[in-house]
Amino acid sequence: MNGYKCVACSVVQSPGFEGFLCPACGGNLDVSYDYDEAASKIDGRFAEGSNDLFRFAALLPLKWPRSPFPLRVGGTPLYPVRPLEELKGMCNLYLKDETLNPSASLKDRASAVTVGRALDVGAGVVAVASTGNAGSSLACLAAATGLVSVVFVPASAPEAKLTQMLAFGARVMAVNGTYDDAYDLCTAACTEFGWFNRSTGYNAFTREGKKTCAYEIWQDLGGRVPDRVMVSTGDGNTLSAIWKGWCDLKAVGLIDSLPKIDCVQSQASAAINDTIQQVRSVDDVVVDWSRLVVREVSASTVADSISVDRPRDGLAAVKAVIQSGGEAITVSDQEILAAIPEMAQLTGVFAEPAAAAPWAGLKHLLKNQMVAREELVVCIVSGSGLKDISSASKEVGQPCLIEPSLKAVKESHPPLDVLVPCNQV
Ligand SMILES: *Cc1c(COP(=O)(O)O)cnc(C)c1O
Ligand SMILES: [Zn+2]
Repeated sequence: MNGYKCVACSVVQSPGFEGFLCPACGGNLDVSYDYDEAASKIDGRFAEGSNDLFRFAALLPLKWPRSPFPLRVGGTPLYPVRPLEELKGMCNLYLKDETLNPSASLKDRASAVTVGRALDVGAGVVAVASTGNAGSSLACLAAATGLVSVVFVPASAPEAKLTQMLAFGARVMAVNGTYDDAYDLCTAACTEFGWFNRSTGYNAFTREGKKTCAYEIWQDLGGRVPDRVMVSTGDGNTLSAIWKGWCDLKAVGLIDSLPKIDCVQSQASAAINDTIQQVRSVDDVVVDWSRLVVREVSASTVADSISVDRPRDGLAAVKAVIQSGGEAITVSDQEILAAIPEMAQLTGVFAEPAAAAPWAGLKHLLKNQMVAREELVVCIVSGSGLKDISSASKEVGQPCLIEPSLKAVKESHPPLDVLVPCNQV
């Protein structure tokens, strides 16, 4: 790592900088690297030995070597999914199953690296504003590394996520307000009490953790680059991180082309997609990023993880989609909910609403002939369905309630003759 660069105004900070936002304009920072040095460390392949994200240390901004991280973060599977391909006549479709991280979402990648940073700078209390997953993730990894965590969430966050953070011992501040209210309160509390702030956008290290998801996809594809990666988006940090991961691989000479990054949002929370559309409607060849204002909306989607009024890493995400030539795909909450049992029943992967959105978005692209059927597409499944049972249960109904007799089994509804394995139809 050799410093920081502002996402908006491009002003650079030295590697010793310990602030969070750009001192010149207040924009978000992006960690920069000496790619030549990284390339010589990597020497064609990342160090082996661990199967977690710390095997990518050559492109992480942490002091190294560090003792083994107590939990396995990253190293999640990339699944080829024949039944979903067949459903849509595709032949190169994969799911990156991020539900298998320690706290069951992709946020653990960001938390692992921010916790590493907190340890590097000697912080003892780590805080975060969260719709739910960032908080349960930070609580989990703080517990594993002996740090104290404080989480600011909207009081309406799904119960499973709240219970997760409490179980991990976080101080949970359930704010009577939105995620955006929780965010501003967390920032103020960190300033007041000197806590280390992991909040998305504000903390540049979250992007560094999440970008490793792209490295793993590249490795698991045997060095191929997908045509497109579909990313569920709220604040925009995950998407900008996935893009950065591919750009890093190119910068160190491991790949020579880049994928398109598609931004999938709910109609009821589409600030980033609205902004992308707005940028694309102007035919200016060069966008002045330092002047672009990302839109704000009043979000109300059932996909709580991507319900965001004011995207906290919106500019980086808009840039990533435009630079990669990706699509901005806006889907309805109904399409998101319907994608949950469809994915679960055809692949065995159970996604929370936000994590099912990429598949809903891909179906949108197929319907509008915006993707060729032979394209290599990766959908990121960003969080587990167990984190929000009430949304999934709206789609899947209730079990048959029966007496403990065979007769009751025979008479249950729908009739038993519908139970035919689909590989035998
Ligand atoms: C946080 C999150 C996202 C979106 O990430 P952003 O950085 O907010 O855009 C998507 N899915 C899940 C499950 C998440 O927890
Ligand atoms: Zn700046």
